[in-house]
Amino acid sequence: MARGHVALFPLPFQGHLSPALQLADALHGRGLAITILHTTFNAPDPAIHPEFGFVAVADGGMPDAKDGIGKILAMNDDMEASGCVRDALAALEPRPACLVIDTSLPAAQKAAAELGMPTVVLHTGSAAAIRLFRSYAMLHDKGYLPAQEHELDKPVKELAPIRVSDLFDPSKYPNPEMANRLLDTATEVTDNSSGVVINTFEALESPELEAIRSELAASGVGIFAIGPLHKLSTIGGASSSLLEADRSCIEWLDAQAAGSVLYVSFGSVAPVSREDFEEVAWGLANSGRPFLWVVRRGLVVGSGAEDTELPEGFERAAEGRGKVVRWAPQQEVLGHRAVGGFWTHSGWNSTLEGIYEGVPMLCRPLFGDQLANGRYVEEVWRTGALLVGKLEQCKVEQAIARFMEGEDGAAMRERAKELQVKAMEALSSAGSTQLAVDKLIDHMLSL
Ligand code: UDP
Repeated sequence: MARGHVALFPLPFQGHLSPALQLADALHGRGLAITILHTTFNAPDPAIHPEFGFVAVADGGMPDAKDGIGKILAMNDDMEASGCVRDALAALEPRPACLVIDTSLPAAQKAAAELGMPTVVLHTGSAAAIRLFRSYAMLHDKGYLPAQEHELDKPVKELAPIRVSDLFDPSKYPNPEMANRLLDTATEVTDNSSGVVINTFEALESPELEAIRSELAASGVGIFAIGPLHKLSTIGGASSSLLEADRSCIEWLDAQAAGSVLYVSFGSVAPVSREDFEEVAWGLANSGRPFLWVVRRGLVVGSGAEDTELPEGFERAAEGRGKVVRWAPQQEVLGHRAVGGFWTHSGWNSTLEGIYEGVPMLCRPLFGDQLANGRYVEEVWRTGALLVGKLEQCKVEQAIARFMEGEDGAAMRERAKELQVKAMEALSSAGSTQLAVDKLIDHMLSL
């Protein structure tokens, strides 16, 4: 007999589905029954989680908007108009104690509210990113935004160590009105929730957590720092992956010297221009060091669902030293003894995975919260370096050399190992993350 029943409805993207399924697994491991609501687009595979119930909400696929933000907003509008989430929730037996949602699913929160069902928000980004996204009114009031070209290096003293260049600037977005709407929505959904789960751990972001707690104290919204989720759960990342990983890279890594390989991945959604892609390719090929590079379908802007074409002559130039795969078993790769560095787009899941494995990071954030994540890696945890400015192959080569072999790289590596210990402590039996899961469950069942 389950202790209670909880439903979760994650946003249908890799970086959101994985943490939600991992949280679900941790809750299930402590005796809760779980139902996952999901869209038909990017649906998770129920066979991999036979212990969960899965319910597809009839969304008719992903709306055909031009960009990610447009799709998310249109998806919410469709769900609200059809009432499909409310119907799906109303049909669940027994009635869930609460619904866990992403901050960008206000339609799901409204549907739950219509049924009198409380919601808990799962933030799949850092505590620092939440603080930042909740500060947009201040950032506009104080003139940091819209960002001026000559002020990009200016520190945002209210949010140290963030600089103006780290801010997601809605005015630079193709549709600023939509970008602002999504930011406002995230704050509203959080404020209207009964609790907030953040995929982080106390020792990693204690000042940021404290700031969020004091801001939300008056509204009584509980804050639970529960991370790194991929290590809390027994399912890890492989089973929640929407794409099939090419395991030949593990065999390839087995044959490489300890700490010698640079692992390069820009996550599941971020697009790269053809020009940058070529500079990365030649920088890697000419670096003289072994590398494993994830070149997923659609990585290059305009390459669509086809395989991304590598530059002519690249394979010959990198022969014997470089391995390219469409999709890697990333957590296993980062934990492999041959991997000595991680060139990342600084998505939050990737950042936490790098932290947990004690791997230093070369950060090339592209948009959204990635910019703040990269800044924290460089300036707060000092376990990596930002690669800034225009990408040029010679700059890439130099950065790789400094990072993989220089003194700076060695110091980052040492600090990365120290941070790894803290992550492991958070997950140990009386660690802060484990205690927070217990508190979260008590909280959910008391709602
Ligand atoms: N990932 C993976 N194999 C790859 C590249 C990425 O399994 O070849 C996973 C990675 O482990 C992480 C997720 O995809 O869990 C990417 O999430 P993140 O938040 O880092 O970035 P996003 O894709 O949301 O931009």
